Amino acid sequence: MKFSDLSVYLEKLENTSSRNAMTEILASIFQRASREEIDKISYLLLGELLPAYKGLEFNIAEKIMTQALALAFDQSPAYITKKYKSAGDLGNVAHELAQQQKNKKAKNFSVNYLYDALLEIAAESGEGSQERKIKKMAELLSNLDARSVKFVVRMPLGKMRLGFSEATILDALSVANKGDKSARPLIERAYNVTADIGAITKKIKMGGLAMLKKIETNPGVPVRPSLAERLPGAVETIKKAGPLVGVEKKLDGFRTQLHAWKEGGQKRIALFSRNLENTTLMFPEITASARKLKTDNIILDGETIGYNAKTGKFAAFQETVQRKRKYEIEEFAKKIPLHIFVFDILHLNGRSLLNLPFRKRRAILEKVIPVQGIGALMLARQTETASPALIEKELGKSVEAGLEGLVVKNLEAPYQAGSRGFHWIKLKATTAALEKLRSGQARGKNQLLDTIDCVIMGGYRGRGKRAGFGVGGLLLGIRGPEDKYYTVSRLGTGLSDEQFREANKRVEKLKAPEMPKSYVADKEIAPDIWARPALVVEILADEITLSPRHTAGRHGSNTRGYSLRFPRLVRFRDDKNPEDATTVEEIKKMYKAQKK
Ligand code: ATP
Repeated sequence: MKFSDLSVYLEKLENTSSRNAMTEILASIFQRASREEIDKISYLLLGELLPAYKGLEFNIAEKIMTQALALAFDQSPAYITKKYKSAGDLGNVAHELAQQQKNKKAKNFSVNYLYDALLEIAAESGEGSQERKIKKMAELLSNLDARSVKFVVRMPLGKMRLGFSEATILDALSVANKGDKSARPLIERAYNVTADIGAITKKIKMGGLAMLKKIETNPGVPVRPSLAERLPGAVETIKKAGPLVGVEKKLDGFRTQLHAWKEGGQKRIALFSRNLENTTLMFPEITASARKLKTDNIILDGETIGYNAKTGKFAAFQETVQRKRKYEIEEFAKKIPLHIFVFDILHLNGRSLLNLPFRKRRAILEKVIPVQGIGALMLARQTETASPALIEKELGKSVEAGLEGLVVKNLEAPYQAGSRGFHWIKLKATTAALEKLRSGQARGKNQLLDTIDCVIMGGYRGRGKRAGFGVGGLLLGIRGPEDKYYTVSRLGTGLSDEQFREANKRVEKLKAPEMPKSYVADKEIAPDIWARPALVVEILADEITLSPRHTAGRHGSNTRGYSLRFPRLVRFRDDKNPEDATTVEEIKKMYKAQKK
């Protein structure tokens, strides 16, 4: 396929907000794509070059792109910047400039050629790499037609704005191969087990949907993590997951998937975060201990957290999080050594363990990691019980120790990759108690089961004291029907000055010229600055109420949406993608539970 043909589809996708229409367009692309290009097209559709776990970033900021545009279209960077300020989108600026060059004939590159060129630009590193990136990008842009230019400029900036997620791609693959969405569960299973959309699309193209049945866990390729449901108490928990359950502490650190495999005769180790980004370099002490594992073919699931082996104390998240920096990692590894508490095993010696009941997986895990651990690799402690009283006692102990609560596990359940279910139940201490722990002061009594993960949809300019921060308030949303984001709250007073500064910096980077098409929001609460859906914040609230102003859950005869009372920011959740935000369905359940 020529890239110019792909851009026609991209433009169609850009101009529709109906999920069904997007699914149809994507299905046509997949039908038309050849087996040599379908994987690359899949990544490009998501604005990427490789799956996130490979850790390749474009590293092209707006400044670099501005210079590339200046070079490509023979203008000054100042002129491009001026144009950008009024258009609000460098892709549109590039489109206009390319259109003006009517007498220049565009080279009709194939998708493969363009993909390789972009890959080469992204891979530039070291001394002089910025200049080389600018030069190569300019060369590429000056040879493209106007429509293609628009998308090639937006892609490295993370601003494709096509408004669909991987879920729509999975639907489209089903439509392309079966004529309807009935193959979605099969495709989704494969994607949950090996989270590489390019590999999946290619497999289907080569041998049809039947090929997916053969897809199994593969060390080196992350598995989408299993997630927990919420319940209000121990009795309900036993009813749902018991009678006998496994009780574990809910440690408050980084979710970490540890992979070991052999490649080219060498043992390789990789670590992946909750949203499957490669975090291997962030935790050298864990990687080093993983080398001591007796096997070189394994996938483990666990939580990485600061831990003092002498006192048996876990570090607070604020301490653990200090590791999230690019520099001085070794130094911090000495100051606050991190450990991974492994709570599950997904693969061992060439065999997927996903379908084994948890009790059996746990027995295997206990053989792989002894109670005393292997260096920084520790076995998560587990207590088997059928007693609600014991669960409550454990919950109290966990909260006293400064932890979030418990994760209670169904001992008979398989590992449910990529899904939230009652096979795991998180019991957090009441939010009031949590708040008390985190800020040292109590607030009113309330029964919200959990914090809520919201997407920042935009920012309101600050007034008075906050004028200096730029953004003085945020519009928050959650995920709902049709893959769209619905408003649920404004966040104003619940941020410290430092958090405001940080929010401002981040919203500025995500600025969109108009309301993104995946947003459903009332005009009356439109923020001064719209932000693309990218940033997730964890919010603590007193209560979920109903409000006519918000669109989450408001449809048909429901004239009021869900809304958060007294929202406070807990933290920025860089380990979550917007698709991982709390859903309208979840809020509905939490609303019902708090009324009990
Ligand atoms: P949260 O925002 O509470 O971390 P989440 O959406 O990331 O939630 P959930 O499925 O709701 O994920 O809760 C499970 C999370 O709890 C895991 O992602 C993991 O990071 C953490 N966790 C800590 N201890 C355990 C444990 N023993 N078993 C499973 N998960 C644990």
